[in-house]
Amino acid sequence: MQLRASLFPPCPVPYSLLIRNCGQLLTLAGGPTDRPLTGAALTDWQVLTDAFVACEGERIVAVGPMAALDEAKVTAETVVVDAGGRVVMPGLVECHTHLVFAGNRAQEFQRKLQGESYLDILASGGGILSTVRATRAASEAELLANALRHLEGFRRYGITTLEAKSGYGLDKDTELRLVRVAREAGRRQPVRVVPTFLGAHVVPPEYKGRGAAYLDFLATEVLPELRGEAEFVDIFCEEGAFSVPDSRRYLARARELGFGLKIHAEQLHDLGGSAMAAELGAVSVDHCDYLNAADAGRIAAAGATVAVLLPLVPLFLRQSTYAPGRQLIEQGVPVALSTDFNPGSCPSKNLWLALSVACLKMGFTLKEAVAAVTLNAAWALNRAAEIGSLVVGKRADMLVLDLRDYQEIPYWLGENPVQQVIIGGQAQQDS
Ligand SMILES: [Zn+2]
Repeated sequence: MQLRASLFPPCPVPYSLLIRNCGQLLTLAGGPTDRPLTGAALTDWQVLTDAFVACEGERIVAVGPMAALDEAKVTAETVVVDAGGRVVMPGLVECHTHLVFAGNRAQEFQRKLQGESYLDILASGGGILSTVRATRAASEAELLANALRHLEGFRRYGITTLEAKSGYGLDKDTELRLVRVAREAGRRQPVRVVPTFLGAHVVPPEYKGRGAAYLDFLATEVLPELRGEAEFVDIFCEEGAFSVPDSRRYLARARELGFGLKIHAEQLHDLGGSAMAAELGAVSVDHCDYLNAADAGRIAAAGATVAVLLPLVPLFLRQSTYAPGRQLIEQGVPVALSTDFNPGSCPSKNLWLALSVACLKMGFTLKEAVAAVTLNAAWALNRAAEIGSLVVGKRADMLVLDLRDYQEIPYWLGENPVQQVIIGGQAQQDS
C-alpha cells in the first residue's frame, strides 16, 4: 500500500470555483459562532487583504491570503473569478420581506404626497386592504410571476437568501397559496427563500372587531397545515392590529406546533411586544422604532433574539422616529437590517440603501452595518451555521463589489455596488 501511495500520490480534488485577487475580503469571521454578533464583536470581524476564496460544489473549502493559494487545485475545471483587487463579501441576507402580493400602491403614494392622511386613504378602501383585495383576486400563476420578478431584482442587489412572509390573503386559502408561492419561487431560481406565515398581519374585514377570534381560527385551522411549509410564524403587534396578550397567546401556540417565532412590534407605539416575543424565544423582533431602553435590556438578556431594524420604512412613511440602533448596540442587543420590502411602507429592494440610511439615521458604523446585513441577518433566520460569513464549510454565497475599499459601501448612497453574484458556488451569469 505504501508503494502504491508513493507511485500514485492522491490527486487533489480541484476547486470548482475560485475568487482570486480579492483586494479586501470581508469574511465576517473571528467572532463568536454560537450567538449573533453584539457590541464590540460587531466590528471586530476579519478583513483579509489580497486574498482568495475557493469552493467545491456549493461549499467554501478554503479562504486565505493569495500567497497561501494551493495552485495545484486550480485546474481546467475550475471556474476562476478574478476580483482584480475589488471588495468581496458574503451574499446579503434579506431577513424581512413581504415578497408575495399583487398590485401596487403607487396611486396611494401620490395621494399621500398630496397631503391625504393614512386614515383618509384607509377610509376610502386604500391601505393594506387594497393589497389584500388585489392579492385574493390574483391567480397563483400571477402571484408566482410577480414573486419571481421581485426575486430577480433582489438577486441583482446581491441578496442570496431572502425571507418571504405571507399576509396579504387573510383567509385560509389565500394565505396557504402565498406560502406555496414563496416556496415554489424558491425552487425556480437560485436565491434561497425562507417562508414565514404572517396570516396575523391585520384583522381581516370578515373578523372586524374580533381579532382574538381570528387568531384562534389561524391557530386551529391554518397553522397545523403549515408544518413543514413555513418555518416561522409572525404577527403584527400594534394598535389597530393585535394586542400584546393576544400576540403572546398566538405565538405560544405557534411555538407548541414547532414554528420559530417572529414579531412586528414597536413600529408605531411602545406596547411591549418585542420584549414579550424575546422572552418566548423569538428568533427576531422587527421594527423596534419605539422600543424603550428597559425592554431593549430584556431583549439583550434573552440572548439570541435579533432586533431587525427597517430604516427605509420611516423614510418612506415620512416619519421622524427611527429605531435607536446605536443605543441597542450599546446595550448588547444583536441587530440586523432589512428593507421590509412590501407594497405599502417600503417598495424598495435596495438593502444597500437601507444600510446607508441605518448609518445616517440610526448611528450604525460601517462594520456594524455590514454585519447587520450578513451574519446577524442570517441569525435572524436561524441560518447562521450555513450562511452569512465566508468560512470553510459554509455555503458559497458571495459578492464581488465594484469597489476597491469597503468604506465606500454606505457612501454611494442608493447605488448598487454589486458586480458579480455567486450563489451556492455558482457564478450568476446576468449579475
Ligand atoms: Zn414587515
